[in-house]
Amino acid sequence: MRLVYPVIMVALLCLSCQQPPTAESCKRFLPKRQKNPAARVVVNKQRPSSKTTQKRKVVLSDRWIKKKWIPFGPKRIQWSLEYLHIHVDEKATSILIDPKVIVVHWTASPDLASSWKLFAPARIPSARRYVRKFGRVNVSAHFLVDTDGTVYRMVPERYLARHVIGLNQVSLGIENVGGVKGKPLHDAQLEANAKLIRYLASKYNIQYLIGHYEYRKLERTPLFREKIKSYRTGKIDPGRGFMKRLRQKLKDLHLQGPPK
Ligand SMILES: [Zn+2]
Repeated sequence: MRLVYPVIMVALLCLSCQQPPTAESCKRFLPKRQKNPAARVVVNKQRPSSKTTQKRKVVLSDRWIKKKWIPFGPKRIQWSLEYLHIHVDEKATSILIDPKVIVVHWTASPDLASSWKLFAPARIPSARRYVRKFGRVNVSAHFLVDTDGTVYRMVPERYLARHVIGLNQVSLGIENVGGVKGKPLHDAQLEANAKLIRYLASKYNIQYLIGHYEYRKLERTPLFREKIKSYRTGKIDPGRGFMKRLRQKLKDLHLQGPPK
């Protein structure tokens, strides 16, 4: 019986640090905080092909972009694939995209926190009655630009995000905090959008740059794919003035606007 006490004590000590396994003494055995929950499920890290360009592109740095990932666990992946089946291709097996279009938005929410919370839940809220009828996955976008021009990643670039009817499978979405009561976006956001789009255009074969309000004009292109003809929404974001100024800043990239 005399041996029992020391044996119990040893069992209560942590194997690595020989201390009782409290949160303070044994952090290395606690679950690691995952920086990007979606990173677990990436199966194809290959860059999209660049067959349309002959010369090799120099990809600009993205180290200035901050991270504020929305949860993108198995349910969100499953519902994103379900969205593709309903709207684009019933045989789709992956939610990875090959970006060819950049779509600029505003969140119609006044600050960063409230904007981010719009996109965080995996399931579309019941309040969004119209779009809810066409898929369970919540809306989101790849980037969120704060009013001071800080850019955050919300969704990995090559994941499908639900932000624009007919083009989700080929587009990257940039959300800008603001657009409340028709207030224009800030100059800092204009600069940040331009810098972000330069980075994205250096990495992918981006053909079109559009504001969300212009998405229906791409119905005339083969990029637009939507199986349900009645599924359309009217949009005004991010405002004509913002897109005009943005295109002026980026005219050297020769990105196309919507077909006339
Ligand atoms: Zn939008």
